[in-house]
Amino acid sequence: MENYKNSLFENIKNKLSAWLELDEAETIPNQEIFRFLHSIKGTAGTLQLCGLMAIIEKLLEGIDEESARVWSRSDLRNFLFDLIEHSYDYERFDEVEIKEKPVRDSQAPLIQIIDDDISMLILLKDLLEEKGWMVITNADPVKATKHYFEMQPDCLILEIQLPVKDGFQILQDIHLHNEKYFIPKIMISIQNDKHSRIKAFKMGADDFIGKPIDFEEFIVKMERHIQRKKIFDQSVLIDELTQVYNRRFLEDTLPRYFNDYKRSGQPFSISMIDIDHFKRVNDLYGHSVGDHILVEFAQFIKCNIRSSDLLCRYGGEEFVVIFPDTSNEEAKKKLTGLIKDFSAKPFNQNDQTFSVTFSAGVFTVENENVTPKEAFEEADNSLYEAKRSGRAKVESIQKNGFNKKSLNVSVIDDDIIIRTILTKALHSLQIPHFDLNIAVYEDGHSFLKSDRAKEDIGHFLILDGVMPIMDGIEVLQKVKQSRNADLFTVLMLTGRKSTDDIANALKLGADDYVTKPFSIKELQARIERLMTKLI
Ligand code: GH3
Ligand code: MG
Ligand code: MG
Repeated sequence: MENYKNSLFENIKNKLSAWLELDEAETIPNQEIFRFLHSIKGTAGTLQLCGLMAIIEKLLEGIDEESARVWSRSDLRNFLFDLIEHSYDYERFDEVEIKEKPVRDSQAPLIQIIDDDISMLILLKDLLEEKGWMVITNADPVKATKHYFEMQPDCLILEIQLPVKDGFQILQDIHLHNEKYFIPKIMISIQNDKHSRIKAFKMGADDFIGKPIDFEEFIVKMERHIQRKKIFDQSVLIDELTQVYNRRFLEDTLPRYFNDYKRSGQPFSISMIDIDHFKRVNDLYGHSVGDHILVEFAQFIKCNIRSSDLLCRYGGEEFVVIFPDTSNEEAKKKLTGLIKDFSAKPFNQNDQTFSVTFSAGVFTVENENVTPKEAFEEADNSLYEAKRSGRAKVESIQKNGFNKKSLNVSVIDDDIIIRTILTKALHSLQIPHFDLNIAVYEDGHSFLKSDRAKEDIGHFLILDGVMPIMDGIEVLQKVKQSRNADLFTVLMLTGRKSTDDIANALKLGADDYVTKPFSIKELQARIERLMTKLI
């Protein structure tokens, strides 16, 4: 039975690919499509493929056997999209396991694993993703520290023996952060002696698991760590590092301000604040200095606003200040003064003196109909405008109509079905402040020689690992050697069993990988996360 099923799906895919690959000018007669659907219906019924049956029946309702119409490729793609997606999903569920796998969304706990042993990385990632968590992996410890601060994982799994920089050094790098935050850090190592364990715990590790790893025990421990992290996050209202309120507190308190406004009619202002070029500060002076600046920054703002104003750390180096009973003009004036004074504050590191600036966006609530969500979006849009127009300033555009940043999103895959599904998935993404220019390529050559590849704007590349003309690994290598390599974030699509491909991809600097066949919803969540955090 399985064989027949596979062969049916194989036939469906071949036919769909052949149609999708036609020239836009060519057309497909209605009769051909009708006959195709009809023949699948018969076989699907025989093989008891209920999901497929339902799709085909619905499609057959939408097509008239007698019609003399001809279909264009794009009409047909829209018409048959459910079937395209289903034939892809069948492969995923069938090949991997019959049982439903959890589909991770963008809120799933994020775990970062750092290990230079790639087969271990792959194994642990598979194991943890089975639980519904999202995992990012790093084989390169230097990049790993950067990713740690950018992605802000909920849990860190760290090997001790690493080249260039060992696990202890990484713990050291994130030490200040470590001390203040409840991010479970689990050391894994073959070096499971008492001395190493004591050293790890002294340096802030929360757990130590010797290799070879007992997976059953590992998963139970991980469940505990993630669960405790969740409880912790829900109960804490003060940000540990900066000692100001956190985002959770803000979300709890915000409705009060809106209710007060409804009662009193007194406008209040919300401001979104973000430190300028903070990635550069971290790169130049180290993450501990970055952390120190965050503390100083929060103290500075706190000491220079009224006690009735509310300061919260919104996440990373973003803060929110709420100014009750404050007009737009007053809030802007206040923030302009704060920017000026903070910029004048000298910071020192290794005999170098430098200054740090910040930008702010303001939205003033002076209308009863505006929701907290809308108010934040507006403040954020204004912040973005302040960044775009030069930084170290305040903006308040009380209405939309600002320029978004362009991001080139390119899919390179030789499989037309995957290209079709991904294009649709990408078009449904909403990434704040970004206009996505989506393009698909069937091979690496056509991408590399395109003008688009040379553009000096952010690039997000979804790259198939195995392609006939130029292998995905080779494309990755070329991209990483190009002049604008730093502008690329690369997500590789690799075969489930191709450990070597994954190893190469990670070594060459791919930012993440997903094994084929993947769940589309999950891939979307992953892309969303990478785009908002890494770009
Ligand atoms: P921009 O002027 O456009 O805001 O540039 P930026 O470099 O500040 O860009 P962005 O806001 O995207 O980067 C935020 C960076 O802040 C990413 C991460 O490295 C760093 N970061 C976030 N949280 C922390 C933290 O708790 N400690 C440290 N040291 N760095 C953090
Ligand atoms: Mg910033
Ligand atoms: Mg930021």
